[in-house]
Amino acid sequence: MRIDIITLFPEMFEGPFGHSIVKRAKDKGIVEIFTHNLRDWSLDKHKRVDDYPYAGKGGMLMSPQPIADCIDQLKTEREYDEIFYTSPDGLLLEQKSLNQMIEYKNIIILCGHYKGIDERIREHYITKEFSIGNYVLSGGELAAMVLVDGIVRIIPGAIGDEMSALSDSFQDGLVAPPAYTRPKVFKGWEVPEILLSGDEKKIDQWKLEQAIERTRKRRPELLNE
Ligand code: SAH
Repeated sequence: MRIDIITLFPEMFEGPFGHSIVKRAKDKGIVEIFTHNLRDWSLDKHKRVDDYPYAGKGGMLMSPQPIADCIDQLKTEREYDEIFYTSPDGLLLEQKSLNQMIEYKNIIILCGHYKGIDERIREHYITKEFSIGNYVLSGGELAAMVLVDGIVRIIPGAIGDEMSALSDSFQDGLVAPPAYTRPKVFKGWEVPEILLSGDEKKIDQWKLEQAIERTRKRRPELLNE
């Protein structure tokens, strides 16, 4: 999969994409990630990328020209399955939608900033808008990182143990059951006996019961879906 990220702050991505699963997936050639500095696309002599909103107050908007030119160029190079815009009023990101996204070959993610972007870009260029929660961030970069991390970790081959991603929360409509590692007794607190029993069937049953119980307590809405 190829991911092109359009942003005013390409350096922000170096940390999150330079470690752990995303880094390994890049090293293995499972994913290619390119960042494009929007400022490079500005035709303004001061490389401005924002402007005052018509009839608006309190804050600048990202101008359409650099965004349109950058996307136009990328589109001449390859076809894109989706052109995403990060937006608080977009579709709330959930595991279900991430699972479908691993099929994509090429995607663009446009990160907003300031008060957002000119509406005409949303209408004519963007094919999907997503939000990472009902709160407002200063920019779309963190949301783009969330999307990329969420997709990459479930692309087959990205995680060594394929089953590992499948046993995470939300994959089966439940949150994950409690988990324990060594030592058997820590500060006097014991690991549930069943997990030491070696009886796989009983253990699976216990994990399922725990997952259901935990979902009922913490995310009851998942049980009604
Ligand atoms: N004026 C906008 C908010 C702008 S915040 C509004 O009221 O909806 C600046 C940018 O940060 C947005 O353009 C968007 O790209 C990004 N952003 C902020 N909150 C976000 C969220 N919850 N999910 C995804 N992107 C978000």
